[in-house]
Amino acid sequence: MKKNIIVQFLILLILVAIFITGISLYNLRTVSIKSSVTTAESISEVIKSGLALHVKNDSDIDEFLKNVSSIRNIKDLWLVRSENIKNPKFQTKSFKNPKDNLDKKVINSGETEYIVKEGFINTNVRVTIPYKATISCLECHNVSEGDTLGAISIVLDVSTLKEIGVRSIYVILTIILLAVIIVFLFSKKVFNPYLSLYMKLRDNINQAKIGKFKKIDIPSGLTTDVVQVTNDYNNLIAIFKDTSLDIDKKLQGFVGYRDRTNLNTNPLNESKDIIDNLSNLYQFKKQVELDSTKEEIYQRISQVFENKFHLKNFTFFEIDIKKQKMQKVISVGESLYCHDAIKDNPHLCRAARTKSDVVSIDFHESCPYFTKKDKFYYCLNIDIVENLYLIIHFVVDTEKELDELKNKSLFINRFLKEARPAVEVKLLMQALEDSAFKDGLTQLYNRKFIDEHLKKLLPQIKRDKKKIGLLMLDMDHFKAVNDEYGHDIGDKVLKSLSRILEENVRESDIIVRYGGEEFMVLLIGVDSEESAMNIAHKIGAKVRENEINVYAGTTIKKTVSIGLSMFPDDSSLFETVVKNSDIALYEAKSSGRDKVVRFSKEQKTSVELF
Ligand code: GH3
Ligand code: MG
Ligand code: MG
Repeated sequence: MKKNIIVQFLILLILVAIFITGISLYNLRTVSIKSSVTTAESISEVIKSGLALHVKNDSDIDEFLKNVSSIRNIKDLWLVRSENIKNPKFQTKSFKNPKDNLDKKVINSGETEYIVKEGFINTNVRVTIPYKATISCLECHNVSEGDTLGAISIVLDVSTLKEIGVRSIYVILTIILLAVIIVFLFSKKVFNPYLSLYMKLRDNINQAKIGKFKKIDIPSGLTTDVVQVTNDYNNLIAIFKDTSLDIDKKLQGFVGYRDRTNLNTNPLNESKDIIDNLSNLYQFKKQVELDSTKEEIYQRISQVFENKFHLKNFTFFEIDIKKQKMQKVISVGESLYCHDAIKDNPHLCRAARTKSDVVSIDFHESCPYFTKKDKFYYCLNIDIVENLYLIIHFVVDTEKELDELKNKSLFINRFLKEARPAVEVKLLMQALEDSAFKDGLTQLYNRKFIDEHLKKLLPQIKRDKKKIGLLMLDMDHFKAVNDEYGHDIGDKVLKSLSRILEENVRESDIIVRYGGEEFMVLLIGVDSEESAMNIAHKIGAKVRENEINVYAGTTIKKTVSIGLSMFPDDSSLFETVVKNSDIALYEAKSSGRDKVVRFSKEQKTSVELF
């Protein structure tokens, strides 16, 4: 850079020298020509007065012209006459006819003309001056005063002048060169510290751009003003460095994330990235708080994964440890490689069991249920509420992508952390809603639920032309349990009956605690009356066999009576079907208990009679 400036400075000086030389040459040429013309004019004046004298005295004009021609630097000289000269006295060889076009031109115009003939060695100026008639000429010539009588052409050799000029140019060039050297040496001494300061400043700013802040060593030889400005710059850089690093550090703490591709950049750029991320996070949090369901929140997180983190394959699983249930809630791309193996045994999920993240990179086999050997996984575990985990299972194709994902995981976790309270609130709300429809003792649905649910269920059953087998169950002589062992044991018996019901019907069937020790089971989509009867008998048998511990070493066994009615076979009105099953139950009770009775129209009559 320093060399560059010196070279530029020298080139500038050389250009100035060339320019000055060019101008000098041009001026020299003009001056030479002008002085030649003036010289020629002076010579012509001498010739004119000499001619007049020689003509008067009849002396030898040629000799006179020859003498004049011998003057130094005159290379040629001749006289020409115009057609105005008729006098035979002037018809001698000394007065020639016009020699060339320039002669003719001057005779015609009456104006002095010149041409320059530049040779390789010599330079000549040919000047042709008109010879105009004066009063004394009128004596011999029949012309008016001022008419052109002829012309005098003089060819002057100006090479000597040129030589003098070139020599003076050499002198000029030498002076310029000396000036250049003096200026160069002087400026080098004076400008060097400034140049070196400028270059340090430039390098320093470039380094600052990539986050490397350094002070400038101040070179000696600078004025106090410049030293002061440089000191101010150094202080400014120091403040900037401390502040930006401090901001960056504090912001890192907010996000817990550093984009490693940007390590060589200004910390302010990183801070800007972090603030952008924080702003995204804040927006995300606001949106999540406005979401109405847990599913919407999951969907929103999934969008962030896709759009912000550019992740393509992931699945959200909810794992309920208490219920031992693993449920897929969101799935994007292809990632369900472990699901089939562990969905019924969620405790096999390593991320859920160890309550920590599980990554495939170091020990590819850390999760034996991930079977896709050519891919990599990353499982995040988020504790949502007690016994409920959200497992986010990411799958990537390369180790590099996995590294990037690991890098992002802190920031991904920040998003999840922001979403977690909102998911928790949704779960609590869900639980609250569920509790309104559930019986506290048995955790089965209550009557309120069936009233609400039937509004949706019945049209669907009718549309699909399916059946519902409705079992109405009542424990036989239940009062006696309460009376003999107390209400707690009575509750235990009820809970035990509930489990038997849950274990012996399908998940899609609905079990309702209808009254105190009265239960209703809706066998949804049961294919026939016989199937319904079989299920009812199976329940009856299971209850009959079931031993309930009442106190140390003492067990009891209970039975149930079951009434069965079919929807829509018995009635297209569901309330009637409920009533019918109740009638059948009454029939079962009255005919000896511990049995299943299918509703029939006759029973109806008998109840009515009763
Ligand atoms: P039956 O064979 O005719 O049905 O005889 P039962 O003794 O079962 O007669 P009933 O249906 O009249 O008795 C119901 C008893 O169930 C009365 C009530 O005290 C008791 N019960 C109702 N709800 C609960 C409950 O939540 N817990 C307990 N322990 N007992 C309850
Ligand atoms: Mg009862
Ligand atoms: Mg009873």
